[in-house]
Amino acid sequence: MALAPDDPRHGTLNGYNNLGCRCRPCQLANNAYQVDYMRRHPEQRERQSLRERRRRDPDGSKAARLDAEWRERQAKRNLEQMRREERAEARELVLRLHAEGWSYQKILDELKRLGHRHFTNVGSISRLVRGYP
Ligand SMILES: [Zn+2]
Repeated sequence: MALAPDDPRHGTLNGYNNLGCRCRPCQLANNAYQVDYMRRHPEQRERQSLRERRRRDPDGSKAARLDAEWRERQAKRNLEQMRREERAEARELVLRLHAEGWSYQKILDELKRLGHRHFTNVGSISRLVRGYP
């Protein structure tokens, strides 16, 4: 059923829903109603966005992949952070033991005993002590 151009019901929800008019003013009236409805019913909005996500990613594989990638990045960041802290700790220890008069070899043995892996030879300890990066 088409509404006459001069029908006063254009631009109303009635025009859109009951009279099936899809003119611009009737569409806008319907959109405004939908927006207002969603505002008044947050649980519907949640349900709608869930439906939308399912439509875009039916089996959840995309979400699972993104989640896995995020976890991997996070794990990598944590590991890097741990390494940085461990290295800083090892450097501090080397400098302290050196200041106490320990030999490079003894310092290396102590680092190994403590499980530090950042200084694997006497040369790297000597470079640190002499102020090289
Ligand atoms: Zn209309």
